[in-house]
Amino acid sequence: MVDAPDPVPLSALQHWCYCPRQCGLIHLEQAFDDNLHTLRGQAVHARTDQPGVETARGVRVERALPLWHDALGLVGKSDVVEFMPGGAPYPVEYKHGSRHKAPDIAACDDLQLAAQALCLEHMTGQPVPEGALYYASSRRRRVVAIGAELRAQVVATAQAIRQMLASGELPPPLAGEQAARRCKGCSLIDRCQPLATRAGLDAARQTLFDPDA
Ligand code: SF4
Repeated sequence: MVDAPDPVPLSALQHWCYCPRQCGLIHLEQAFDDNLHTLRGQAVHARTDQPGVETARGVRVERALPLWHDALGLVGKSDVVEFMPGGAPYPVEYKHGSRHKAPDIAACDDLQLAAQALCLEHMTGQPVPEGALYYASSRRRRVVAIGAELRAQVVATAQAIRQMLASGELPPPLAGEQAARRCKGCSLIDRCQPLATRAGLDAARQTLFDPDA
């Protein structure tokens, strides 16, 4: 019998996509600090975190539904799953902010939603070709097709996170343009000290490869 892979939290996929080091700080070192973005996120999730079921116009709406995928080793919970009259599930993930995020940041939300879709397919046996992200500031949904590329990315990301957790090694901080755009919005910047850590890594790397140093 093949052992099931160690479970990876669904939220870790979004964290890893944003910054592998952020993912490591949260899921390896259990570190979490709040900033304006995390507090806004908590406010958005205040209702969806409460389990509950409502039915409107034949659609059953379940909040805070536990999700899992044994073969992929994924666990977590949904914000909202809408079950259509035929029973087909439709995941909706709630995010704070506007739906007009930079494409590379929005892609991290898409990845988390796709992981939820794969869990729902595993749990219900029903295809989940689509889901949506609901952005609280815009009060609008953005529909996401759960295509082959996104599915493959879920599998690869879960595997990368599992390897990082098994190694116990914290990934390096972001560099360059990614760091300039992402670190300022990261609640873990004081704990991470990306500039100091990156400078130390770069200096060590130069020394390591300079035989005269
Ligand atoms: S401060 Fe930057 S490098 Fe550090 S965890 Fe946050 S996003 Fe990643």
